Amino acid sequence: MVGRGLIRFASPPAGDYTRAFLVLAVDWRFTPSVFPAKCFPMLQRLHIALLTLLFFNGGSARGDDAAVSAAPDAIPARTVVLTFDDAVKSHVTVVAPLLKELGFGATFFVTHAWMDDAQHFLSWDDVAAIHKMGFEIGNHTWTHGSFNTPLGAARLADELARVEIELARVGVPKPISFAWTGNAFGPESVAVLEAAGYRLARRGMQPEVPYGRIHPGPLFDPARHHALLIPTAGDGYPDWNLAHFKKVVDRAAAGKIAVLQFHGVPDVVHPWVHTPVDQFRQYMRYLKDNDFHVIALGDVEKYLPTEPVDDDPTLKMRYPDGK
Ligand SMILES: [Zn+2]
Repeated sequence: MVGRGLIRFASPPAGDYTRAFLVLAVDWRFTPSVFPAKCFPMLQRLHIALLTLLFFNGGSARGDDAAVSAAPDAIPARTVVLTFDDAVKSHVTVVAPLLKELGFGATFFVTHAWMDDAQHFLSWDDVAAIHKMGFEIGNHTWTHGSFNTPLGAARLADELARVEIELARVGVPKPISFAWTGNAFGPESVAVLEAAGYRLARRGMQPEVPYGRIHPGPLFDPARHHALLIPTAGDGYPDWNLAHFKKVVDRAAAGKIAVLQFHGVPDVVHPWVHTPVDQFRQYMRYLKDNDFHVIALGDVEKYLPTEPVDDDPTLKMRYPDGK
């Protein structure tokens, strides 16, 4: 009971009490003229009592606060993560302005692979403009190659760094989020991402749902999925419709997150991952009208468990296998 009382007393303003106690300590020790000499023994006892209280409360409060900050936040129901891959020009002309208007968060995964086609793909200045609008910029490698093999993993650190250097040049901070290119992943590259300081990485719906199939993918469960192998719940294909979109996002209950993967809106150069603008507006309107909590991938960090999930079977998996 005493412990509870102390915590209740000291936790919220622990910093204020600390400062007040220290000031008092300084006052009685170094400005004795403030107090008559006969008060010294009493002040000394008070000082010792306060320091004792501070020690125990400080300890309790620090422990309490640490426990609170270490414990993951509860995931609100209807949480959706929006991600947009491949640095398509329509991300800056269509997607970012629409999401900004709706007050949604999102992550844009950028790669240099197609940037020479300035008409259809973002420039680094466009990427900076998206960042300045408040969206997260994630790394999607320099060449958009395959990184599911040991050979691919050997190139990954360099590919990440090249993107980071260009981002730094235009004032975009080093990303904490990564998207597996071609949705291919492997254990050696997970280790490279970890070493490079990446905290979150999104894979595709595979292996659970075969590529190209219009079927809802797994929801992200931070207690079950490793944060560098976050599954896609819905991969936007041109033949999606609102009914399918609802099927994907309506499953997002408390504790699970629907991570969506889009490419261009529209996507002229890669028509197999094109999303028509009108349909995209319908999807986003559905999220807005139904009070979904729409965030960037980087925002899920606060929902991650204290210890990394080490028994996710995909950690030992290579997808696609042998390629
Ligand atoms: Zn991609």
